[in-house]
Amino acid sequence: MTITKVDPVTLRTEPCELKERYGRYELTPSLQEKDDRQLYISPPWIDSHVHCFYAVTSFGLSPDTIGYRQGVHLLVDAGSSGAETFAAFRRFVADPSRTKVKAFLNVSAIGHVSMREYFDRRLVDVSRAAQTVKENRDILLGIKVRSSHIIVEEQGIWPLEQAVKAAEMADCPIMVHMGENPPSNKENLALLRGGDIVSHCFHGKQEPLWKADGTPTQELKEALERGVQMDTAHGAASLDRDIAQAALDAGFDNFSISTDLHIRNVHGPVRSLADTMSKFLALGMPLAKVIRSVTTIPAARFGLDGWGSDLTKNATLFRLREPEEGEAPLVDSTGKAFAAAPRIEPVAVLMDGKMIELQERK
Ligand SMILES: [Zn+2]
Repeated sequence: MTITKVDPVTLRTEPCELKERYGRYELTPSLQEKDDRQLYISPPWIDSHVHCFYAVTSFGLSPDTIGYRQGVHLLVDAGSSGAETFAAFRRFVADPSRTKVKAFLNVSAIGHVSMREYFDRRLVDVSRAAQTVKENRDILLGIKVRSSHIIVEEQGIWPLEQAVKAAEMADCPIMVHMGENPPSNKENLALLRGGDIVSHCFHGKQEPLWKADGTPTQELKEALERGVQMDTAHGAASLDRDIAQAALDAGFDNFSISTDLHIRNVHGPVRSLADTMSKFLALGMPLAKVIRSVTTIPAARFGLDGWGSDLTKNATLFRLREPEEGEAPLVDSTGKAFAAAPRIEPVAVLMDGKMIELQERK
């Protein structure tokens, strides 16, 4: 079949022929100028922020429903498990899933068994968290902490300070949820080191990270200069269309696109990684950069060398579909609609050299 290859490194697209021969796929440059069916192939997609510790936490989704069946090859769980529950996460979630699953370990030993995971300081055991990361580096990428007022309440900046200590001991990055203050952006960002990740970077809560003109606030500018990384983590309350639009218009496009999918946003407003990617396409981000934000940007951050280097073995195949007459628009976390634009829809995944066609979504 003729298919357009999207290269997230060169940011170019190229018509190709994808053929199966003797049970193996081959991808070769095509002489045909354009693919009539508008099919695309890209490196395998990564969703860098989801919650997939189902059954143990009340809001987790089972990995394969939001993973390969939606074109996503790797899910990164953002702090659903802690040192106390990680063995169950590995055994019952990561190991049996067809979709690859990695995770950031919550600095609280119980993870999201409670949604106020730092309410008792005795639940935070820095050396145990660090030890768990060290012993499970095949799955664990770093330490997760939530540092916004509705989570930390009177604990303030203390949980983030503990996460930094654990990350120093395990020599790994931290992923920080930011939102309502206190702690303020200034307090949170001051503790972050190069390689650490800010979740919900386009939230529109009381203290956004960006100025109205889309340029970073002074504390964010300094953090970006230190190499602090930005992740979308859309969620039920954390993607504001106008903030993302302003940052893009001001020239900032070095971030990952991720969903923060869990049971309470999978039916809207988030729904899937593909819909979240479509929202950035609607904001005017070029397709190749949208793909870069779910492939090479997170892969580099997580040290996944060679991710997507052989598209005949592992890849996501998708199409661009024009919205239908009367189709409900995509919306952000505040209910604001995105402009009508083509929708990115996964149609198949190549996993370890095998093609799996995906069912049409209703
Ligand atoms: Zn989350």
